[in-house]
Amino acid sequence: MSKRFTCTSCDFVVDYHFKGRQPPFAKCIMLLEDCYIMKDPFSTSGGFVTVGGSCSLCSKDVCLSADCSLFYTQRFCLTCAHRNQQEFPKQIQEEILHRAKLRD
Ligand SMILES: [Zn+2]
Ligand SMILES: [Zn+2]
Repeated sequence: MSKRFTCTSCDFVVDYHFKGRQPPFAKCIMLLEDCYIMKDPFSTSGGFVTVGGSCSLCSKDVCLSADCSLFYTQRFCLTCAHRNQQEFPKQIQEEILHRAKLRD
């Protein structure tokens, strides 16, 4: 059974099978965040693909594309990352500004 994941930042839509940190079909995996996960259609050994996550601040669903989200200890959508950029270390701030620039 699959559900639909929609990125709120771009138009990426995909069917996913599981949301959380420990996909039941992939043994011995513990992810760093709750993710939207789909089974890898080409894998027979429990492979999976992470398709997205939820922003830890606004809890919007965002895909893992560099244009949509950023992972720094937690997942952030680019809007929240940009709004709270002073909370991030210098290196991440530059990354955020760089990405925001590419998007405009
Ligand atoms: Zn996206
Ligand atoms: Zn956000």
